[in-house]
Parts: sequence; structure tokens; C-alpha cells
Amino acid sequence: MSAEHVCLRCGACCASFRVSFYWAEADPAVAGSVPIALTEKLNDLRRVMAGTNSKAPRCVALEGQVGSCVRCTIYAERPSPCREFRVAWEDGLPSAECDKARLIWGLPVLQPYALLLPEQIIEHRLAQADPVLNLSPRRSTPDDVSVGMVDAPEPPPAKEHDAGESAAYS
Ligand code: SF4
Ligand code: SF4
Repeated sequence: MSAEHVCLRCGACCASFRVSFYWAEADPAVAGSVPIALTEKLNDLRRVMAGTNSKAPRCVALEGQVGSCVRCTIYAERPSPCREFRVAWEDGLPSAECDKARLIWGLPVLQPYALLLPEQIIEHRLAQADPVLNLSPRRSTPDDVSVGMVDAPEPPPAKEHDAGESAAYS
């Protein structure tokens, strides 16, 4: 994940939902990668990330301050709901769960250009001002004119969490 990625200044989804998954994801005997010491048993089939099965959930693997600067300390070993969770506007699509988490923490929902780099935002705004001719600052020749919207950035890692008491994954 890029150092500039919006999720590194958020972390709301890691502190809003119960993160539950099939027990085997945390069982090294069957190639589970999630550190079992950071999980708790939910029922016979599922475990949760410790700290998330609570009225005020916060995953124990989350480091930092939500809405400011955060990091997942088990990023490479995170469970499937975290890998599948979609940040809003990834692939150009909204994400109700991302929006919900951010609103819980008083953060504004992401706008369609939130995942763009600063120079791409400039291009995006140029394209909005003139949807036919979008002069691209990344291109070097003066007559090099692109038409339409900017390219989408590299998609970030996806995460998915269940939604607490109304969990779809529990
Ligand atoms: S996916 Fe959405 S809620 Fe989760 S860290 Fe990224 S911006 Fe925040
Ligand atoms: S394992 Fe990482 S990505 Fe998943 S909820 Fe915890 S801190 Fe967030």
C-alpha cells in the first residue's frame, strides 16, 4: 500500500465492525496465516480479530490513531474479510461499508477522486471543467492532449468486515 494511501490516514473500518472469519484462517496446522494469539473464538466455526467483538470495536492489530495515521501490524497475514473489504471508489465503485465506518468516526465519506494522486486530482478537475479537452500535465509534448477522464490509480488492498450484530459473515 502506498504511503499516500487514504486508508493509512483512516483505519475506521478496523475500529467499527466485528471482523470474523472461518477458524482455519488462524490455524497454522492447515496453513492459516492469521496470528491466532490476536484472535478469539466466536463459535465452533468462526474466530474474530481480538478487540472487534465489542460494542466499541477496535482490532488489536491496528496501530495508530483512527482518522490520522494508522497501520495494520499483520497486513500480510490479515484475514479474508480484511482482504476483501473495499475502499470507496476502488475500481470506480462506491462502498457502503467504507462510508459507514468513516461516518461512525465522524470522517467524511470518500469522494470519487479520493484515491487519486495530487496530480491526478488536478487532471480530474480539469476534466470536470472541460470534459472534452483534458490537458494532462503528465504528458510532455505541447500538442499531446488526452480526452476524457484520468486513469484509475492502482487498486489498494481490499478489506471486508462483517457488520457487528447484523453480521453477514458470522
Ligand atoms: S477502507 Fe474506507 S473505512 Fe477502511 S481504512 Fe480505507 S478509507 Fe477508511
Ligand atoms: S487485521 Fe489489520 S486490516 Fe484487519 S481489522 Fe485488524 S488492523 Fe484492520
